[in-house]
Order: sequence, then C-alpha cells, then structure tokens
Amino acid sequence: MESPSATPFARPVYIMTKPAGALCNLACKYCYYLEKSKLYTNNPRHVMSDELLERFTRDYIAMQTSPNVLFTWHGGETLMRPISFYKKALELQKKYAGGRNIDNSIQTNGTLITEEWARFFKENHFLVGVSIDGPQEFHDEYRKTRTGKPSFLQVMKGIQWLNRYGVEWNAMAVVNDFNGDYPLDFYHFFKEIGCHYIQFTPVVERYYRHPDGRMLASPIDGAVAELTDFSVSPEQWGKFLCTLFDEWVRNDVGEYFVQIFDSTLAGWMGVPPSLCSMGETCGHAGVMEFNGDVYACDHYVFPEFKLGNIYQDTLTNMMYSERQMRFGNNKRDLLTRQCRECDFLFACHGECPRNRFAQSRDGEDGQNYLCAGYYEYFQHVAPYMDFMKYQLQHEKAPANVMEWIRQDMPEYRK
Ligand code: SF4
Ligand code: SF4
Repeated sequence: MESPSATPFARPVYIMTKPAGALCNLACKYCYYLEKSKLYTNNPRHVMSDELLERFTRDYIAMQTSPNVLFTWHGGETLMRPISFYKKALELQKKYAGGRNIDNSIQTNGTLITEEWARFFKENHFLVGVSIDGPQEFHDEYRKTRTGKPSFLQVMKGIQWLNRYGVEWNAMAVVNDFNGDYPLDFYHFFKEIGCHYIQFTPVVERYYRHPDGRMLASPIDGAVAELTDFSVSPEQWGKFLCTLFDEWVRNDVGEYFVQIFDSTLAGWMGVPPSLCSMGETCGHAGVMEFNGDVYACDHYVFPEFKLGNIYQDTLTNMMYSERQMRFGNNKRDLLTRQCRECDFLFACHGECPRNRFAQSRDGEDGQNYLCAGYYEYFQHVAPYMDFMKYQLQHEKAPANVMEWIRQDMPEYRK
C-alpha cells in the first residue's frame, strides 16, 4: 500500500455539499439519501447555516492546490434552499477566491426549477444535473412525490426553462429493475429532448435494518443484507450497456456524450476517467452534510465512514487523513483475485467498492455484484475502443469509428 503521506497534494480534492441535508420534496423509492435524515434526528432544521457556508467556502478554497475550484451542490433536493442562499454562496466565493477561478455545479430533481432559477443558473454559469429516468412511464414508476404523485411532467417543465435560458445541463438517469430492459427507449428520449450529456447509473441497494430506522445496508453490512427489488441485475446492466453502446457507436460519437462510454475510452487510453467508479482508487471526493459532518464519499454517508466535522477539524486534515487515504486505496488493494487477473481491470478497476458484496468464481468475498454485466460490456466494446484509441493516438477523431463500422470494420495496423 502507498504511504498516505506520499505526495498527498498530487490530485485535486472535491467535497460536495448538502445545503438541505437529505430534505427532498420527492420520495423516490430507490433513493439512497432520503433516510440519512435519521442520522440527524437531534437537529431541528436540516439546512446549512450561513456561518457554516462561510467557513466551508473559505476552507474549501484554501485547501485547493489548483487555480480552478469546483463547488458541487447536492441533495436531498438542493432547490429546497432559496435562490438567496446560492447568491450568498456566490458572494462568499468571490470574497475568498484569492484569484482562483470558481465554478458551480448543482444536482436537482428538476421539479422546482422556475424561470427565476433558470435565469439565475444562466447568469452565474451553473452546470445543472437533472435527475430524470427517461420517458414518463419509466420515470414515474419510482420517482414520485411524498404523497405518491408522479413527477415527470414537473421535471419536464423545469427542463423547458433550462432550455429556454440556454442553461448548460446534463441528465442523470438511474437504471433499475423496471427500466433496465429498455435502453433504446431511454436513449432516444434523451436525444429527443435535446440532451447531449447523459449519465446512466445502475441502482444497487440492499436492505438492512439499522437500530436508528435506516433500512439500507452500508457496505460493511456484509452478506446478511438482502438485495432490494428495485436493483438492476448484472445481466440486465450488461445488456443495457451493450445495446446502448451499439446504437451510440454507430450514430452519435462526438455528438452525444454518455459518461460511461467516455470513461471506458479514458481507461483504454490509460488516463483517469471522469466516472469515479472506473478509477483505480477513490477517496478524493468527500461529502459535507448540512451540519459540517464530513464523510468519505456520497455513497458512504454512514456513521462508520464519518471523517469528522469542520468545526473540530480542517477539511485538509480530514480529506488527507490516513483513514481517507486507506479508504481510497482499498479500492485497488482489496480487489479479488478474479479482478486482479481480469483482462479488463485496466478499465473497470472492480467498479465501485460499495457493490462488492458478491463472491468471485473462486468463492472469494468482495466480488462486484455487477461484474458479469461489466465483463460482458467490456468484451463487447473492446474492438471499438481499440479503434477509437488508435484514432486518438494518431491525432484523429474517435468519431471515425462510425465510418469504420459502415465499411464493415476493415483491418487496420495496430
Ligand atoms: S466509493 Fe464508489 S462512488 Fe465513492 S468515490 Fe469510490 S467509486 Fe466513487
Ligand atoms: S469486469 Fe468483473 S472481474 Fe473484471 S475488473 Fe470488473 S468487476 Fe473485476
């Protein structure tokens, strides 16, 4: 294992913030975050104070080693805070910028976006991530309000405002048991609504009853936790990716960007991918909750993965602690033998550790539950990735792959 103190500032560190904690106007069935409010039943209001906002802004900017700083606002539902909160955040960013270039990205369920929000995002160059699960019948299956009402039409209204004001936005779509068999309906829908940047995330959760009322398993809850019915199966996920890829690689390379395909190509090129789950290690993207608690990762907001609180320790100490370094390196150091010997380890890296609760084919614990799907996907895309890599290495556009396929994939010198 690498020494935690070796070149600790070699890579940028991100901390996403939860200005409204886990508060949300929706109650999507598969949400991994809603129940986090049970960690904070002693706090009467789950919103970040102005004082904490200032402390975070100052310390977060100060801890960065690069001239570019990215603030990532995440929920719960971020738009449950008023615009005035984000205006205050921008003022503080300006106050503490010290010559740095600051960007903001915000994740939202889209239902609360109004004309005023769209204007604000445009004027302040926010990149907006909208959670939307494809066409209405897929989206409304799980993404409902607290009273069980569908949310699709409200999200579409929000997207119309974003489009009308020319706000830069991308779609975050969750692939689950219900929609996982329909990749093309999904994909065509996003193209029809003019979305050029799409992220597909497989939902994998397990039930595990915690004494405080939380119902979803932590990664350390082991083999006793039972898979949720809404999780996508490995086979579904593999087929979903292969079918989607076939459509994209024939028609849309260079015009529509699907994050997992980009990250796969990055893996082929040997450069760090934008998708953390496909990186070799993790640990450089923490989370700060509304009260200043800092956790190892957005998917590790569990008491056992809390790094501390900004009122008791600095962000730098927490994010570069030995504990956090070990958390990040464990992704690489705890791979099963099956992964270590896998032909596609260079691109997959065993995917996200939170999904490593299955057994490898040699009976070793810690295999990724989605492995069979990923393996099928990597095998399927390999010839196309090889070709796109060759193009990039010769300073040509990866989009040439479309013509290569039309010509029946002729031999080329590797
Ligand atoms: S634990 Fe998973 S979600 Fe978190 S940074 Fe690592 S790969 Fe990404
Ligand atoms: S495809 Fe499966 S075996 Fe290969 S690296 Fe990924 S998780 Fe491991």
